Amino acid sequence: MLGALGHAPFIYFLSAFPPPSIVPNPNFLRFSLMAISARIAVIGDVHGYWDLREDSKALQLLQPDLVLFTGDFGEENVELVRSIADLKFAKAAILGNHDAWFTPCFSQEKKDGVQLQLECLGENHIGYRRMDFPQQKLSIVGGRPFSHGGKAMFRKQLLSARYGVKDMKASAKRIYETAIGAPEDHLVIILAHNGPTGLGSRADDICGKDWEYGGGDWGDEDLEQAISKLKENGKFHVPPLVVFGHMHKELTYGGQRKMIVVTADNTIYLNGAIVPRVTSYSGEEGKVGGNFTSSETSCTQSVSRGTKRAFTVVDISDGKVDKVTESWISVVGDETSSDEANLMYQSGISKC
Ligand SMILES: [Zn+2]
Repeated sequence: MLGALGHAPFIYFLSAFPPPSIVPNPNFLRFSLMAISARIAVIGDVHGYWDLREDSKALQLLQPDLVLFTGDFGEENVELVRSIADLKFAKAAILGNHDAWFTPCFSQEKKDGVQLQLECLGENHIGYRRMDFPQQKLSIVGGRPFSHGGKAMFRKQLLSARYGVKDMKASAKRIYETAIGAPEDHLVIILAHNGPTGLGSRADDICGKDWEYGGGDWGDEDLEQAISKLKENGKFHVPPLVVFGHMHKELTYGGQRKMIVVTADNTIYLNGAIVPRVTSYSGEEGKVGGNFTSSETSCTQSVSRGTKRAFTVVDISDGKVDKVTESWISVVGDETSSDEANLMYQSGISKC
């Protein structure tokens, strides 16, 4: 595991790369391009389905190096976000539109729900930021927080006040500039709440509008522009992986969304929004096990009968995304096991 890496990337950067004067030979950097290997667990839109103890047990089984959260934890559910911050795995998270549900602008009088959530997450909130993991040669780059998709920017006043971003163009530039600062030998992974435009406009496309007849592309154009500029720049081969949520797997009028797209230039777009991400073996489908809203009794009953919990697991080896799996982990008491593993991608072949 990365462990404390997420909190002290700079220190690890210094230890991983000797200063230029003592680089032993010109092959050092070439050698350092190899052997990128990591496991990433994506936790898509939480919407209340989170229990620190139960999810920690599941993650202990999966053993990820890094956990990525696509946001929408609740409706400004500060306690839940605090519990996410307490997770003892290296992590990055981005707030979604539901995480700014009641707060159109920052309060001057008292700390509002958005400020409190940002405070809880601290350095782990990736919005318009970058986290470098030199040991794994990974950089995680954050997109625009609070996105709800479509042409209009949601929570403009929050974005302007906190990030100085006033429109889509400025947002695209900000994401691009954040990414372009990553070390050249790193894999750049983008984490956003919603995916980019340009990936289809059918209701079941990865960012397709499913609540209106006729569909429509509900992606974020700033994200598409930023990725396109990154590809033009050529500093990185391509961003190999773009992770997001917001557009749920279950469609409003039935059926399931396409959750992965691999483009011709080998960028993998991955939607992690499996909602609900927890179900109970008792047959209930509910916010079980520490959802902060249901009664203690129902929590206890659900946990004792056990739950299965969804993660999208990305395995990277030799500097490439090797495999992506929708993984359901069974947690019954202290027993954990794989309940279901649906292969979504392997070695360049998309399966769904
Ligand atoms: Zn959302």
